[in-house]
Amino acid sequence: MPRIAIIGGGISGLSAAFTLEEKRQSGAEIEYVLFEAAPRLGGVMVTDHTDGCLIEAGPDSFITEKPWAADLCRKIGLGDQLIGSNDSERKTYILVRGKLVVMPDGLMFMVPTKIMPTVFSPLFSWRTKIRMAAEWFHPPHKASEDETVAGMVERHYGSEMVDLLADPLLSGVYGGEASQLSVRAVLPRFADMESKHGSLGRAMLEARKEARKKMGAAANVPARPLFTSLKDGMQQMVDALVARLDANALKTSSPVQSVIPQSTDDGWIVSAEYQSDHFDAVIVATPAQAAAAVLQGADENLSRDLGEIRYSSSVTVTLGYDEKVRRSLPPGFGFLVPRSEGHRMLAATFVHNKFPHRAPENRALVRCFLGGARDEQILETSEEEILEIVRDELRQIVGIALNAEPLFARVYKWKSAMAQYSVGHLERLQRIEALRRKLPGLALAGNGYSGIGVPDCVRSGAEAAGKILAEMGMWSSA
Ligand SMILES: Cc1cc2nc3c(=O)[nH]c(=O)nc-3n(C[C@H](O)[C@H](O)[C@H](O)COP(=O)(O)OP(=O)(O)OC[C@H]3O[C@@H](n4cnc5c(N)ncnc54)[C@H](O)[C@@H]3O)c2cc1C
Repeated sequence: MPRIAIIGGGISGLSAAFTLEEKRQSGAEIEYVLFEAAPRLGGVMVTDHTDGCLIEAGPDSFITEKPWAADLCRKIGLGDQLIGSNDSERKTYILVRGKLVVMPDGLMFMVPTKIMPTVFSPLFSWRTKIRMAAEWFHPPHKASEDETVAGMVERHYGSEMVDLLADPLLSGVYGGEASQLSVRAVLPRFADMESKHGSLGRAMLEARKEARKKMGAAANVPARPLFTSLKDGMQQMVDALVARLDANALKTSSPVQSVIPQSTDDGWIVSAEYQSDHFDAVIVATPAQAAAAVLQGADENLSRDLGEIRYSSSVTVTLGYDEKVRRSLPPGFGFLVPRSEGHRMLAATFVHNKFPHRAPENRALVRCFLGGARDEQILETSEEEILEIVRDELRQIVGIALNAEPLFARVYKWKSAMAQYSVGHLERLQRIEALRRKLPGLALAGNGYSGIGVPDCVRSGAEAAGKILAEMGMWSSA
């Protein structure tokens, strides 16, 4: 019976395992073993509960527009557990010269699509507002080479837009910098819109009109929430997946040291914890840096390209406060902090507004983000010091007095967890794919390749399993 090894038990590896399990349940003669270095499965997806509050240590939700995570939840019996963000409260602030300024209505990512709210917004200077008006007439432009997100946004709207929006938004989502990340890899839609329409503003409006036309009769259906999550937190997805897998196939506390192809029979030797085992195929579903290490003996060039995919680290801090603090906080989902403000905090979410049932009505639940590509030192900082930094910055930004003691506080450190798709990422992926194809029975999954969010990781795991099954002649449309 063909044996398949999966290395890494985060959501990417679990999604690959689930695809194989479904195939097995439908009668396919396969066996799989999942190796996970940590004592628990789920990778960065961890949910804690305390004082009636639900705390997400890693992702708190996923973007609704990408269907793969919600589809998987429905398949594993969690359809009725899916919840949407409380978009009637959706309002995000940017910290500008120490004051929270609300992002104007109609901003789509960083592209303004409504004239009046943008014109009257105190967020932008008149110079940027004039650039926004001129952007409407931007000629179509097909860049011959990849460029940074900062480069593209600056060409369209000027440097203030990079500092106030592009950079803070990207550090919130990717823990990265607009001046490093590839526009083609991170915002492929922007590159496409620019080449077809020139103006990003006009292209966004055009896309919205098209979407409305397609919806046709369904136009009165209420808009879907921007973010989707699970009633009992993201860990619910991990637990439901694990419950559907073959328990004997899940090896936790089993870090894999190497994955070596066999010249004799096209199989692979997987070495974990001083034991080696033979497999017919291997899915490496770890962060790309770990994939580079385990595949070093398989192909040096592949390992080098994988190792060049950089990662940044992230720290999340969740604080619970009483009703008085809750009443003092502004409405909305939270705020972003541009680097120029000189704080360590990158962003904060008012969880009690974004997902109201995650905190009782007499609690404020505030989740803060630190770290990112420019602040790796935060990992070396003690939890006590991190809490001091966060509390001091919350005092400065939203006025939570230092004598307002948090009822609880949790600090989670995620080392090298956020892949940074730097300029040239797509070319690197092409090289990786060409080298991978030379190694039959190898597939890659994870957040290092084509999407860092949970839905893309779910898709990458399922696709990797599909590729292996297709090679084995068990999958028709991988
Ligand atoms: C703080 C934070 C907040 C986030 N917020 C969101 C969000 O709100 N929405 C969203 O969509 N996405 C979010 N993301 C991104 C998303 O959660 C991750 O990209 C995704 O969960 C990664 O899943 P993965 O399985 O690819 O990797 P991981 O979760 O990193 O799992 C990889 C696993 O591989 C294991 N491993 C590594 N090396 C080995 C080895 N040699 N042998 C065996 N096992 C090994 C690791 O122990 C780990 O468990 C966030 C990420 C972080 C860190």
